[in-house]
Amino acid sequence: MPGGVSADGTALQRRGLLFILSSPSGAGKTTLARRLLAHDGGIRMSVSVTTRPMRPGEVEGVDYHFVTQPRFDAMVEGGELLEWAQVFGHCYGTPKAHVKTGIHDGHDFLFDIDWQGTQQLYQKLERDVVRVFVLPPSIAELRRRLTARGTDSAETIAARMARAQAEISHWDGYDYVVVNDDLDACFARLVQILAAERLRRARQVGLISFVRGLMAPIA
Ligand code: ADP
Ligand code: 5GP
Repeated sequence: MPGGVSADGTALQRRGLLFILSSPSGAGKTTLARRLLAHDGGIRMSVSVTTRPMRPGEVEGVDYHFVTQPRFDAMVEGGELLEWAQVFGHCYGTPKAHVKTGIHDGHDFLFDIDWQGTQQLYQKLERDVVRVFVLPPSIAELRRRLTARGTDSAETIAARMARAQAEISHWDGYDYVVVNDDLDACFARLVQILAAERLRRARQVGLISFVRGLMAPIA
């Protein structure tokens, strides 16, 4: 867990954070998220539940927990979701389990959720949330990426393109905005944002006793 280091070389206790990636569909947040998880052992994915059908290549419990509509409704009713929203006619939500205790224990979580879920998480856990919006370099490139991904029908791609500008209009509800033009460069910016956010004073709960030690009368 990167963070401050005390004089004896041990890691200072730190509160975890919720690192949120949002973008119009096809801008590259899944690609960036997978890379971040592979690169950084200190952050784990918040795996959402969804009622949408599984895409080729997706794995239950890794990409999503795929559930029926009645099961999703029961989770909402039972207060099992931290946030939820309807996107492209399907329901998506974040299971509460693990996240709240995890941040207390210093674990960081990565979220791939839309602007509606981001607003809900911000309302509930404002000081733990880091909101990053990923923009495509152009609308033409967004269409090219959605088509090249090869996972959606022409009809689904048209629906995602039709929604893209409405989603982009929420860019100003985020702390950071990155343009995913060159993948390596964009990824490097995400790594920098995460590193800096981990060092925020308010997250380094171990600092108080550490600084108290530094302020003790000098012999
Ligand atoms: P999202 O999760 O935002 O819907 P994906 O991560 O699935 O988007 O990316 C959509 C497609 O674009 C994928 O085929 C992915 O490999 C490709 N892609 C992602 N980032 C870039 C990039 N910087 N340059 C070119 N292609 C990219
Ligand atoms: P996809 O179907 O392409 O995986 O995701 C469609 C949209 O749903 C994306 O914008 C994604 O960020 C969003 N999404 C995925 N999981 C959640 C979730 O748990 N909550 C919310 N609010 N949005 C989600």
